[in-house]
Amino acid sequence: MRVLVTGGAGFIGSHYVRKVLGGAYDSLADAEVVVLDKLTYAGSESNLEPVRDNPRLRFVRGDICDLGVVRDVMRGVDLVVHFAAESHVDRSILGAADFVMTNVLGTQTLLQAAVDAGVGKFVQVSTDEVYGSIAEGSWPENHELEPNSPYSASKAGADLMARSFFRTHGLPVCVTRCSNNYGPYQFPEKVIPLFVTNLLDGKKVPLYGDGLNVRDWLHVDDHCWGIQLVADSGRAGEIYNIGGGTELTNLELTSRLLDAFGADESMVERVPDRKAHDRRYSVDITKISNELGYRPLMSFEEGLAHTIEWYRDNRPWWSTRKDRAKLPGS
Ligand code: NAD
Repeated sequence: MRVLVTGGAGFIGSHYVRKVLGGAYDSLADAEVVVLDKLTYAGSESNLEPVRDNPRLRFVRGDICDLGVVRDVMRGVDLVVHFAAESHVDRSILGAADFVMTNVLGTQTLLQAAVDAGVGKFVQVSTDEVYGSIAEGSWPENHELEPNSPYSASKAGADLMARSFFRTHGLPVCVTRCSNNYGPYQFPEKVIPLFVTNLLDGKKVPLYGDGLNVRDWLHVDDHCWGIQLVADSGRAGEIYNIGGGTELTNLELTSRLLDAFGADESMVERVPDRKAHDRRYSVDITKISNELGYRPLMSFEEGLAHTIEWYRDNRPWWSTRKDRAKLPGS
């Protein structure tokens, strides 16, 4: 069994690789893992340090838009788990070209190479943001796509490309759409590691607008487990939402983080809202729960405490990245 993991040097992809090589998933107990990653600002081989010497790991630095490289790494692959993406909404607002290139063209390049190589399963790792924003209730998988940011539009484009390769070429594709992840190794431009590392440095945290935007927070370990269930047993051509974490307004999230540091509201700096900031995301996870037996296992309290501890213990990891992030508030 050989698994190709794209974006395996990023936040979620590296977690998945560490879990696979750590023996967390029975079906991949002996699998060879090939990581294809361009190592953009968001990726680093150091994220794979704990499994670096594992003989089942092969790391290839390359771009998923490069058909030659992609064809090469696709040889002999049984399963593709496709994480590689430009993933930060704020960056997509500043400039969307890289998002379209990597997220749409890169996904199409991988899908074509997977068809040509006769790959057995292709998991397109997507996001709940493709559905837009929902005031009440939760989206089922057949809800229409109403992406509002260039990031989510590019992910929606990739999802549709994946669907077309199933319908047109019969490639066994599954799409997963997950809510907001948090956990160790997350690049410190995303809200939880940004706020945690600011507070570790005694700096204020930048809160967008009125702080009432709602997100469902899921630990990265629960996301990866959901992805593996879909890789093992998801029906080809189907979409599976993954979520069921903890719904919080950004204000509530900020309060929990301030509490964890014994800080008060004086550490909050209100900043102008993000353009077209989606008010609320919420996925209905009935399908993956009923079909595949998924449910999140990590409580937010435990996951957040563990995440804060990780950033406290790994200052060299995040301080260099924060210098590279160069975004307002970081
Ligand atoms: P990340 O930004 O931390 O990592 C992305 C990785 O992809 C990096 O290692 C980067 O070097 C690599 N990459 C970027 N462009 C590439 C290219 N052209 N070729 C090869 N590699 C390239 O992102 P993440 O948070 O780990 O997200 C992983 C996936 O999960 C993405 O597809 C994202 O849309 C999806 N997702 C993320 C979240 C979340 O909360 N972070 C939630 C739902 C879905």
